[in-house]
Amino acid sequence: MGEQSPDGGRKTAKATGAAERKAAPAKKPAPAKKAASASDAASAEKAAAARKAATAKKAATAKKAATAKKAATAKKAASVKKAASAKKATPAKKAAPVKKAPAAKKVAVAPKKATARVEGTPPAKAVVHPPGGESRTALVRRARRINRELAEVYPYAHPELDFDNPFQLVVATVLSAQTTDLRVNQTTPALFAKYPTPEDLAAADPEEVEEILRPTGFFRAKTKSVIGLSKALVEEFGGEVPGRLEDLVKLPGVGRKTAFVVLGNAFGRPGITVDTHFQRLVRRWQWTAETDPDKIEAAVGALFPKSDWTDLSHHVIWHGRRICHARKPACGACPIAPLCPAYGEGETDPEKARKLLKYEKGGFPGQRLRPPQAYLDAGGKPAPPLGAG
Ligand code: SF4
Repeated sequence: MGEQSPDGGRKTAKATGAAERKAAPAKKPAPAKKAASASDAASAEKAAAARKAATAKKAATAKKAATAKKAATAKKAASVKKAASAKKATPAKKAAPVKKAPAAKKVAVAPKKATARVEGTPPAKAVVHPPGGESRTALVRRARRINRELAEVYPYAHPELDFDNPFQLVVATVLSAQTTDLRVNQTTPALFAKYPTPEDLAAADPEEVEEILRPTGFFRAKTKSVIGLSKALVEEFGGEVPGRLEDLVKLPGVGRKTAFVVLGNAFGRPGITVDTHFQRLVRRWQWTAETDPDKIEAAVGALFPKSDWTDLSHHVIWHGRRICHARKPACGACPIAPLCPAYGEGETDPEKARKLLKYEKGGFPGQRLRPPQAYLDAGGKPAPPLGAG
Protein backbone atom coordinates (compact mmCIF):
# COMPACT_ATOMS: atom_id res chain seq x y z
CA MET A 1 0.00 0.00 0.00
CA GLY A 2 1.33 3.71 -0.72
CA GLU A 3 1.30 7.03 1.19
CA GLN A 4 -1.96 9.12 0.78
CA SER A 5 -2.61 13.00 0.82
CA PRO A 6 -5.49 15.07 -0.49
CA ASP A 7 -3.42 16.49 -3.29
CA GLY A 8 -0.92 13.85 -3.29
CA GLY A 9 -3.51 11.38 -3.78
CA ARG A 10 -4.72 13.20 -6.87
CA LYS A 11 -1.14 13.86 -7.93
CA THR A 12 -0.27 10.30 -7.41
CA ALA A 13 -3.28 9.31 -9.13
CA LYS A 14 -2.44 11.79 -11.90
CA ALA A 15 1.11 10.59 -11.91
CA THR A 16 0.00 7.09 -11.88
CA GLY A 17 -2.41 7.79 -14.67
CA ALA A 18 0.30 9.50 -16.61
CA ALA A 19 2.76 6.84 -15.78
CA GLU A 20 0.26 4.36 -16.75
CA ARG A 21 -0.49 6.31 -19.92
CA LYS A 22 3.22 6.54 -20.55
CA ALA A 23 3.62 2.96 -19.70
CA ALA A 24 0.75 2.02 -21.89
CA PRO A 25 2.87 1.71 -24.97
CA ALA A 26 4.97 -0.67 -23.00
CA LYS A 27 2.07 -3.00 -23.00
CA LYS A 28 2.37 -3.03 -26.80
CA PRO A 29 -1.17 -4.04 -27.30
CA ALA A 30 -0.71 -3.58 -31.02
CA PRO A 31 1.74 -6.42 -31.45
CA ALA A 32 -0.65 -8.47 -29.43
CA LYS A 33 -3.40 -7.40 -31.82
CA LYS A 34 -1.03 -7.93 -34.67
CA ALA A 35 -0.22 -11.30 -33.34
CA ALA A 36 -3.86 -11.95 -32.98
CA SER A 37 -4.45 -10.70 -36.53
CA ALA A 38 -1.66 -12.88 -37.82
CA SER A 39 -3.13 -15.77 -36.02
CA ASP A 40 -6.53 -14.84 -37.38
CA ALA A 41 -5.14 -14.45 -40.82
CA ALA A 42 -3.50 -17.79 -40.51
CA SER A 43 -6.67 -19.20 -39.26
CA ALA A 44 -8.60 -17.43 -41.98
CA GLU A 45 -6.11 -18.63 -44.49
CA LYS A 46 -6.38 -22.05 -43.03
CA ALA A 47 -10.13 -21.77 -43.00
CA ALA A 48 -10.12 -20.45 -46.52
CA ALA A 49 -7.89 -23.30 -47.55
CA ALA A 50 -10.13 -25.66 -45.70
CA ARG A 51 -13.12 -24.01 -47.30
CA LYS A 52 -11.39 -24.19 -50.61
CA ALA A 53 -10.52 -27.80 -50.01
CA ALA A 54 -13.99 -28.44 -48.79
CA THR A 55 -15.41 -26.69 -51.80
CA ALA A 56 -13.07 -28.60 -54.08
CA LYS A 57 -13.95 -31.79 -52.28
CA LYS A 58 -17.60 -30.89 -52.47
CA ALA A 59 -17.25 -30.05 -56.15
CA ALA A 60 -15.37 -33.23 -56.76
CA THR A 61 -17.97 -35.16 -54.85
CA ALA A 62 -20.71 -33.39 -56.71
CA LYS A 63 -18.93 -34.03 -59.96
CA LYS A 64 -18.41 -37.62 -59.00
CA ALA A 65 -22.01 -37.90 -57.96
CA ALA A 66 -23.12 -36.23 -61.16
CA THR A 67 -20.95 -38.58 -63.18
CA ALA A 68 -22.24 -41.53 -61.25
CA LYS A 69 -25.78 -40.29 -61.67
CA LYS A 70 -25.18 -39.72 -65.35
CA ALA A 71 -23.68 -43.15 -65.67
CA ALA A 72 -26.54 -44.61 -63.70
CA THR A 73 -29.02 -42.79 -65.91
CA ALA A 74 -27.24 -43.94 -69.01
CA LYS A 75 -27.14 -47.46 -67.64
CA LYS A 76 -30.80 -47.26 -66.75
CA ALA A 77 -31.61 -45.87 -70.18
CA ALA A 78 -29.59 -48.62 -71.75
CA SER A 79 -31.40 -51.18 -69.63
CA VAL A 80 -34.75 -49.68 -70.55
CA LYS A 81 -33.76 -49.66 -74.22
CA LYS A 82 -32.54 -53.22 -73.94
CA ALA A 83 -35.72 -54.22 -72.17
CA ALA A 84 -37.74 -52.45 -74.83
CA SER A 85 -35.81 -54.21 -77.57
CA ALA A 86 -36.27 -57.47 -75.77
CA LYS A 87 -39.95 -56.74 -75.41
CA LYS A 88 -40.12 -55.82 -79.09
CA ALA A 89 -38.33 -58.97 -80.00
CA THR A 90 -40.67 -61.09 -77.92
CA PRO A 91 -43.59 -60.99 -80.35
CA ALA A 92 -41.27 -62.11 -83.11
CA LYS A 93 -40.28 -64.98 -80.94
CA LYS A 94 -43.91 -65.62 -80.17
CA ALA A 95 -44.79 -65.37 -83.84
CA ALA A 96 -42.15 -67.91 -84.67
CA PRO A 97 -44.30 -70.93 -83.81
CA VAL A 98 -47.03 -69.52 -86.10
CA LYS A 99 -44.51 -69.21 -88.90
CA LYS A 100 -43.42 -72.66 -88.10
CA ALA A 101 -46.91 -73.89 -88.94
CA PRO A 102 -45.92 -74.77 -92.54
CA ALA A 103 -43.30 -76.94 -90.95
CA ALA A 104 -46.15 -79.44 -90.79
CA LYS A 105 -45.70 -79.72 -94.57
CA LYS A 106 -42.10 -80.55 -94.04
CA VAL A 107 -43.21 -83.17 -91.60
CA ALA A 108 -45.55 -84.46 -94.30
CA VAL A 109 -42.56 -84.82 -96.56
CA ALA A 110 -40.88 -86.80 -93.83
CA PRO A 111 -42.25 -90.11 -95.10
CA LYS A 112 -39.59 -89.77 -97.76
CA LYS A 113 -37.17 -90.53 -95.02
CA ALA A 114 -39.34 -93.20 -93.54
CA THR A 115 -39.77 -94.83 -96.91
CA ALA A 116 -36.26 -94.16 -98.07
CA ARG A 117 -35.26 -97.40 -99.57
CA VAL A 118 -32.42 -99.41 -98.22
CA GLU A 119 -29.53 -99.78 -100.59
CA GLY A 120 -30.06 -102.74 -102.84
CA THR A 121 -33.84 -103.02 -102.37
CA PRO A 122 -36.33 -102.10 -105.08
CA PRO A 123 -38.15 -98.71 -104.75
CA ALA A 124 -41.55 -98.87 -103.06
CA LYS A 125 -44.49 -98.50 -105.41
CA ALA A 126 -46.51 -95.32 -104.92
CA VAL A 127 -49.99 -96.14 -103.67
CA VAL A 128 -52.62 -94.02 -105.40
CA HIS A 129 -55.68 -93.79 -103.19
CA PRO A 130 -58.97 -93.29 -105.01
CA PRO A 131 -60.99 -90.28 -103.90
CA GLY A 132 -63.95 -90.65 -101.56
CA GLY A 133 -62.35 -93.27 -99.33
CA GLU A 134 -63.24 -96.13 -101.71
CA SER A 135 -60.72 -98.93 -101.68
CA ARG A 136 -58.59 -99.41 -104.76
CA THR A 137 -60.12 -102.80 -105.40
CA ALA A 138 -63.67 -101.45 -105.10
CA LEU A 139 -62.81 -98.60 -107.46
CA VAL A 140 -61.38 -100.95 -110.09
CA ARG A 141 -64.45 -103.19 -109.86
CA ARG A 142 -66.88 -100.29 -110.09
CA ALA A 143 -65.00 -98.69 -113.02
CA ARG A 144 -64.99 -101.94 -114.99
CA ARG A 145 -68.63 -102.52 -114.18
CA ILE A 146 -69.49 -99.07 -115.59
CA ASN A 147 -67.57 -99.87 -118.77
CA ARG A 148 -69.42 -103.18 -119.18
CA GLU A 149 -72.78 -101.46 -118.68
CA LEU A 150 -71.88 -98.81 -121.23
CA ALA A 151 -70.70 -101.47 -123.69
CA GLU A 152 -74.22 -102.93 -123.55
CA VAL A 153 -75.84 -99.55 -124.04
CA TYR A 154 -73.48 -98.45 -126.85
CA PRO A 155 -72.47 -101.67 -128.61
CA TYR A 156 -71.62 -99.81 -131.78
CA ALA A 157 -69.57 -97.09 -130.15
CA HIS A 158 -66.87 -96.00 -132.54
CA PRO A 159 -65.12 -92.80 -133.48
CA GLU A 160 -67.86 -90.65 -134.89
CA LEU A 161 -65.64 -89.08 -137.50
CA ASP A 162 -65.94 -90.46 -141.03
CA PHE A 163 -62.68 -91.65 -142.60
CA ASP A 164 -61.36 -94.16 -145.08
CA ASN A 165 -57.66 -94.15 -144.20
CA PRO A 166 -55.24 -92.88 -141.52
CA PHE A 167 -54.60 -89.65 -143.44
CA GLN A 168 -58.30 -88.77 -143.48
CA LEU A 169 -58.64 -89.69 -139.79
CA VAL A 170 -55.75 -87.52 -138.66
CA VAL A 171 -57.05 -84.55 -140.71
CA ALA A 172 -60.64 -85.04 -139.48
CA THR A 173 -59.49 -85.29 -135.85
CA VAL A 174 -57.54 -82.05 -136.15
CA LEU A 175 -60.62 -80.37 -137.63
CA SER A 176 -62.86 -81.65 -134.79
CA ALA A 177 -61.35 -79.27 -132.25
CA GLN A 178 -63.94 -76.79 -130.95
CA THR A 179 -66.73 -78.22 -133.10
CA THR A 180 -68.92 -81.32 -133.41
CA ASP A 181 -68.04 -84.50 -135.26
CA LEU A 182 -71.23 -84.00 -137.24
CA ARG A 183 -70.00 -80.65 -138.55
CA VAL A 184 -66.64 -82.17 -139.48
CA ASN A 185 -68.36 -85.06 -141.28
CA GLN A 186 -70.34 -82.53 -143.31
CA THR A 187 -67.12 -80.72 -144.30
CA THR A 188 -64.53 -83.39 -145.02
CA PRO A 189 -66.14 -85.00 -148.11
CA ALA A 190 -65.48 -81.82 -150.13
CA LEU A 191 -61.97 -81.49 -148.72
CA PHE A 192 -60.92 -85.07 -149.46
CA ALA A 193 -62.56 -84.99 -152.88
CA LYS A 194 -60.33 -82.07 -153.87
CA TYR A 195 -57.21 -83.11 -151.91
CA PRO A 196 -57.23 -86.92 -151.53
CA THR A 197 -53.55 -87.36 -150.54
CA PRO A 198 -51.02 -85.63 -148.29
CA GLU A 199 -49.17 -84.47 -151.40
CA ASP A 200 -52.32 -82.77 -152.75
CA LEU A 201 -53.10 -81.00 -149.48
CA ALA A 202 -49.45 -80.01 -148.97
CA ALA A 203 -49.51 -78.18 -152.33
CA ALA A 204 -52.97 -76.62 -151.83
CA ASP A 205 -53.77 -72.91 -152.01
CA PRO A 206 -54.48 -71.94 -148.37
CA GLU A 207 -57.29 -69.57 -149.36
CA GLU A 208 -59.16 -72.34 -151.15
CA VAL A 209 -58.74 -74.68 -148.18
CA GLU A 210 -59.92 -71.95 -145.82
CA GLU A 211 -63.14 -71.60 -147.80
CA ILE A 212 -63.86 -75.32 -147.47
CA LEU A 213 -63.06 -75.40 -143.75
CA ARG A 214 -64.91 -72.20 -142.82
CA PRO A 215 -67.94 -74.04 -141.29
CA THR A 216 -65.75 -75.82 -138.72
CA GLY A 217 -64.67 -72.56 -137.06
CA PHE A 218 -61.06 -71.42 -136.46
CA PHE A 219 -60.69 -72.21 -140.17
CA ARG A 220 -57.46 -70.20 -140.70
CA ALA A 221 -55.61 -71.98 -137.92
CA LYS A 222 -57.04 -75.33 -139.00
CA THR A 223 -56.01 -74.68 -142.63
CA LYS A 224 -52.48 -73.94 -141.45
CA SER A 225 -52.43 -77.16 -139.40
CA VAL A 226 -53.72 -79.54 -142.07
CA ILE A 227 -51.45 -78.10 -144.79
CA GLY A 228 -48.53 -78.13 -142.34
CA LEU A 229 -49.10 -81.71 -141.24
CA SER A 230 -49.51 -82.81 -144.89
CA LYS A 231 -46.14 -81.21 -145.75
CA ALA A 232 -44.55 -82.94 -142.73
CA LEU A 233 -46.01 -86.30 -143.80
CA VAL A 234 -44.60 -85.83 -147.32
CA GLU A 235 -41.19 -84.52 -146.24
CA GLU A 236 -40.52 -86.68 -143.18
CA PHE A 237 -42.63 -89.82 -143.50
CA GLY A 238 -42.84 -90.49 -147.23
CA GLY A 239 -46.48 -89.41 -147.45
CA GLU A 240 -47.59 -92.00 -144.85
CA VAL A 241 -49.09 -91.42 -141.42
CA PRO A 242 -46.65 -92.80 -138.84
CA GLY A 243 -47.92 -95.44 -136.43
CA ARG A 244 -45.91 -94.28 -133.42
CA LEU A 245 -47.04 -91.84 -130.75
CA GLU A 246 -43.70 -90.01 -130.65
CA ASP A 247 -43.85 -89.38 -134.43
CA LEU A 248 -47.51 -88.40 -134.49
CA VAL A 249 -47.18 -85.73 -131.81
CA LYS A 250 -44.50 -84.00 -133.88
CA LEU A 251 -47.01 -83.23 -136.64
CA PRO A 252 -48.48 -79.69 -136.64
CA GLY A 253 -51.82 -79.57 -134.79
CA VAL A 254 -51.47 -83.13 -133.45
CA GLY A 255 -51.43 -83.62 -129.67
CA ARG A 256 -51.68 -86.77 -127.58
CA LYS A 257 -55.47 -86.88 -127.84
CA THR A 258 -55.43 -86.83 -131.67
CA ALA A 259 -52.51 -89.25 -131.73
CA PHE A 260 -54.39 -91.79 -129.57
CA VAL A 261 -57.50 -91.49 -131.76
CA VAL A 262 -55.36 -92.27 -134.80
CA LEU A 263 -53.39 -95.06 -133.10
CA GLY A 264 -56.50 -96.69 -131.64
CA ASN A 265 -58.76 -96.43 -134.68
CA ALA A 266 -56.44 -96.51 -137.69
CA PHE A 267 -53.69 -98.77 -136.33
CA GLY A 268 -55.53 -100.85 -133.72
CA ARG A 269 -53.13 -99.75 -131.00
CA PRO A 270 -54.76 -99.21 -127.58
CA GLY A 271 -55.07 -95.63 -126.49
CA ILE A 272 -57.20 -93.52 -124.18
CA THR A 273 -58.75 -90.43 -125.74
CA VAL A 274 -59.04 -87.77 -123.05
CA ASP A 275 -61.40 -85.25 -124.58
CA THR A 276 -63.73 -82.86 -122.75
CA HIS A 277 -66.44 -85.53 -122.23
CA PHE A 278 -63.96 -88.07 -120.93
CA GLN A 279 -62.50 -85.60 -118.44
CA ARG A 280 -65.91 -84.58 -117.11
CA LEU A 281 -67.29 -88.10 -116.71
CA VAL A 282 -64.32 -89.77 -115.07
CA ARG A 283 -64.30 -86.99 -112.47
CA ARG A 284 -68.04 -87.42 -111.85
CA TRP A 285 -67.46 -91.13 -111.39
CA GLN A 286 -64.54 -90.39 -109.09
CA TRP A 287 -62.20 -92.55 -111.10
CA THR A 288 -59.64 -89.81 -110.57
CA ALA A 289 -59.44 -86.28 -109.19
CA GLU A 290 -56.74 -85.25 -111.68
CA THR A 291 -57.40 -82.34 -114.02
CA ASP A 292 -54.39 -82.60 -116.32
CA PRO A 293 -55.26 -84.75 -119.40
CA ASP A 294 -51.99 -86.68 -119.28
CA LYS A 295 -52.49 -87.52 -115.59
CA ILE A 296 -56.12 -88.49 -116.23
CA GLU A 297 -54.95 -90.77 -119.02
CA ALA A 298 -52.44 -92.44 -116.69
CA ALA A 299 -54.87 -92.75 -113.76
CA VAL A 300 -57.72 -94.22 -115.82
CA GLY A 301 -55.37 -96.42 -117.83
CA ALA A 302 -54.28 -98.01 -114.55
CA LEU A 303 -57.87 -99.15 -113.83
CA PHE A 304 -58.29 -101.15 -117.07
CA PRO A 305 -56.34 -103.63 -119.14
CA LYS A 306 -54.71 -102.02 -122.16
CA SER A 307 -56.92 -103.97 -124.53
CA ASP A 308 -59.97 -102.09 -123.17
CA TRP A 309 -58.59 -98.60 -123.61
CA THR A 310 -59.85 -97.75 -127.10
CA ASP A 311 -63.40 -99.07 -126.61
CA LEU A 312 -63.55 -97.56 -123.12
CA SER A 313 -62.79 -94.15 -124.67
CA HIS A 314 -65.68 -94.56 -127.12
CA HIS A 315 -68.12 -95.70 -124.43
CA VAL A 316 -67.31 -92.81 -122.13
CA ILE A 317 -67.42 -90.21 -124.91
CA TRP A 318 -70.69 -91.57 -126.27
CA HIS A 319 -72.25 -91.49 -122.81
CA GLY A 320 -71.06 -87.92 -122.32
CA ARG A 321 -72.59 -86.85 -125.62
CA ARG A 322 -75.93 -88.58 -125.17
CA ILE A 323 -76.81 -88.74 -121.46
CA CYS A 324 -74.24 -87.32 -119.05
CA HIS A 325 -74.15 -83.80 -120.45
CA ALA A 326 -72.03 -81.04 -119.03
CA ARG A 327 -74.89 -78.81 -117.86
CA LYS A 328 -77.91 -81.08 -117.57
CA PRO A 329 -76.99 -84.70 -117.09
CA ALA A 330 -80.04 -86.93 -117.51
CA CYS A 331 -79.55 -88.85 -114.25
CA GLY A 332 -83.15 -90.13 -114.22
CA ALA A 333 -82.54 -91.92 -117.54
CA CYS A 334 -79.00 -93.04 -116.86
CA PRO A 335 -78.21 -96.76 -117.05
CA ILE A 336 -75.26 -96.45 -114.70
CA ALA A 337 -76.98 -94.34 -112.03
CA PRO A 338 -76.50 -97.01 -109.32
CA LEU A 339 -72.77 -96.93 -109.92
CA CYS A 340 -72.42 -93.16 -110.10
CA PRO A 341 -71.42 -91.05 -107.07
CA ALA A 342 -72.68 -87.95 -108.93
CA TYR A 343 -76.24 -89.21 -109.34
CA GLY A 344 -78.54 -86.26 -108.68
CA GLU A 345 -76.23 -83.71 -110.25
CA GLY A 346 -78.76 -83.56 -113.09
CA GLU A 347 -82.47 -84.22 -113.63
CA THR A 348 -83.62 -87.29 -111.68
CA ASP A 349 -87.25 -87.35 -112.76
CA PRO A 350 -87.35 -90.18 -115.37
CA GLU A 351 -89.75 -88.46 -117.73
CA LYS A 352 -87.99 -85.10 -117.63
CA ALA A 353 -84.63 -86.85 -117.91
CA ARG A 354 -85.66 -88.71 -121.05
CA LYS A 355 -86.33 -85.39 -122.74
CA LEU A 356 -82.70 -84.43 -122.15
CA LEU A 357 -81.28 -87.40 -124.07
CA LYS A 358 -79.50 -86.47 -127.28
CA TYR A 359 -79.68 -88.47 -130.44
CA GLU A 360 -76.90 -87.97 -132.94
CA LYS A 361 -75.68 -89.68 -136.06
CA GLY A 362 -75.44 -93.38 -135.40
CA GLY A 363 -78.71 -93.34 -133.54
CA PHE A 364 -79.41 -94.06 -129.93
CA PRO A 365 -79.54 -97.76 -129.16
CA GLY A 366 -82.82 -97.39 -127.27
CA GLN A 367 -83.72 -101.04 -127.64
CA ARG A 368 -80.74 -101.89 -125.45
CA LEU A 369 -81.37 -99.17 -122.91
CA ARG A 370 -83.34 -100.55 -120.00
CA PRO A 371 -86.16 -98.37 -118.69
CA PRO A 372 -84.75 -95.75 -116.30
CA GLN A 373 -86.89 -97.09 -113.45
CA ALA A 374 -84.93 -100.33 -113.58
CA TYR A 375 -81.96 -98.46 -112.15
CA LEU A 376 -83.89 -96.93 -109.28
CA ASP A 377 -85.31 -98.44 -106.11
CA ALA A 378 -88.90 -98.10 -104.95
CA GLY A 379 -88.19 -94.71 -103.43
CA GLY A 380 -86.78 -93.33 -106.68
CA LYS A 381 -83.20 -93.50 -105.41
CA PRO A 382 -80.43 -95.33 -107.27
CA ALA A 383 -80.56 -99.03 -106.58
CA PRO A 384 -77.49 -100.51 -104.88
CA PRO A 385 -74.76 -101.17 -107.42
CA LEU A 386 -74.81 -104.74 -108.62
CA GLY A 387 -71.75 -106.53 -107.39
CA ALA A 388 -70.07 -103.33 -106.30
CA GLY A 389 -68.28 -103.25 -103.02
S1 SF4 B 1 -76.11 -90.67 -112.90
FE1 SF4 B 1 -76.11 -88.57 -113.74
S2 SF4 B 1 -74.06 -87.82 -113.33
FE2 SF4 B 1 -73.98 -90.04 -113.10
S3 SF4 B 1 -73.33 -90.82 -115.10
FE3 SF4 B 1 -75.53 -90.83 -115.05
S4 SF4 B 1 -76.14 -88.89 -115.96
FE4 SF4 B 1 -73.98 -88.70 -115.38
